[in-house]
Amino acid sequence: MKYHVEVHGCQMNVSDAERIATVCEQNGYTKTDDWRKSDVLIYVSCSIKQKAEDKIIGHMKELDQIKKTRPHMKVGITGCMVRETSSQDDEKKDKILKRIPTVDFVFRMEDLDQLDYYFREETPLDIGKDFGDQGYLEVPPNPMMPFKGNIPIMTGCDNFCTFCIVPYSRGREQSRLMSEIIRDAKDMAAKGVTEILLLGQNVNSFGNKNDVYDEHFSEAETHPFTHLLIELNKIKGLKRIRYTSPNPKDITEELIEAMAQLDKVCEHVHIPLQSGDDEMLKRMNRHYSAEHFLSLITLIRKHMPRAGITTDIIVGFSGESEEQFMNTFKVCQQAKFDLSYTSKYSERKQTYAGRFLDDDIAKDEKDKRYHRINDLLRETSFESNKKYVGETWEILVDNFKDGYASGKTRTNRTVRFLTNEKTTAGDYVNVKIKKAREWIMEGEIINS
Ligand code: SF4
Repeated sequence: MKYHVEVHGCQMNVSDAERIATVCEQNGYTKTDDWRKSDVLIYVSCSIKQKAEDKIIGHMKELDQIKKTRPHMKVGITGCMVRETSSQDDEKKDKILKRIPTVDFVFRMEDLDQLDYYFREETPLDIGKDFGDQGYLEVPPNPMMPFKGNIPIMTGCDNFCTFCIVPYSRGREQSRLMSEIIRDAKDMAAKGVTEILLLGQNVNSFGNKNDVYDEHFSEAETHPFTHLLIELNKIKGLKRIRYTSPNPKDITEELIEAMAQLDKVCEHVHIPLQSGDDEMLKRMNRHYSAEHFLSLITLIRKHMPRAGITTDIIVGFSGESEEQFMNTFKVCQQAKFDLSYTSKYSERKQTYAGRFLDDDIAKDEKDKRYHRINDLLRETSFESNKKYVGETWEILVDNFKDGYASGKTRTNRTVRFLTNEKTTAGDYVNVKIKKAREWIMEGEIINS
């Protein structure tokens, strides 16, 4: 019996998929990379944009045909599209099941421990756990890459940015106990993981809303998130510690200084800007100004001059004038980001903006603004890459394609090099940078 987990959206969804894989394998399924050949097919959905949902819905026509020849095949959905764990047999069911009859069941990650009932077409005994119940995080992940570990340190979000669906799909902000996170990291390091990625919607507000201390760890002078990085930095076997996503409103000099001093914490900060216009930031309910954001960029470069800095930007949000868009453009010119995940505003019905603000920027205008930002980012990324030429950087190899191996520097830059038979995924190799391109760099392996 085969299973396939199809992941859409953020790293948190990747981490959830790794736990679903464990449950599938505990129930005797083996993995297949071809969703058409699976006996259980599970989508980990994202609903940050309509497009993300459409990607899953787009599979259903073909799935209908496949299920005619393989009626035993089970299709399930979890992730941010799902509000209520249920199946087609239930009277009271999630609206997805009404909308898409091809799907057999949907579940919230909080109900992960009931998933196997759906495999056996039995009625689960204990579904409908509270939003944000973190019990499912006790299921050990089955990592997609044996040398990289995803560790959720908190779930949910209380920020209610007006464009964002996450607070409605993931519940209230809740941090895990520091001892649980350290235990997970030690277990992973013992199994050969060398790079960990700490996950949360606002990782740098870790410990703000609930106590993260117990008999194993007591409160320190530093903020709990800085304290967590200090404790993780002590773990033998780990070589790189990364985190995503921080919120600019909670970034402090204490955190940036700690990043510069802790040898395993990578010099990369993903800091979502969203807009560079103060009026727009208010309309988005994001609690910082463009000026404050730029002061954080200066702070990061003061303590980590070669740090990689990436961001998220939304263009064409409700009411965004040309002048307000240009304020975002100017912040990008000053910040010189290495990369931006730029998106055109996509209205989500359940959000504040979806209910009370007009999606009034025309599609072609959103397209134009999207390309203007991307063209600028291509230039700044290229300029930044040129500074690496002639230098030697350590790369964690995680990909092979067309005779090239590639991976990331500690600053999260992508480097590719002609591979040799000795190089394998998970290796740390030194590469001399020979050529800069817009988004990646090319080099020659020095030793492996
Ligand atoms: S901080 Fe804002 S954008 Fe990020 S998850 Fe929370 S509500 Fe969404």
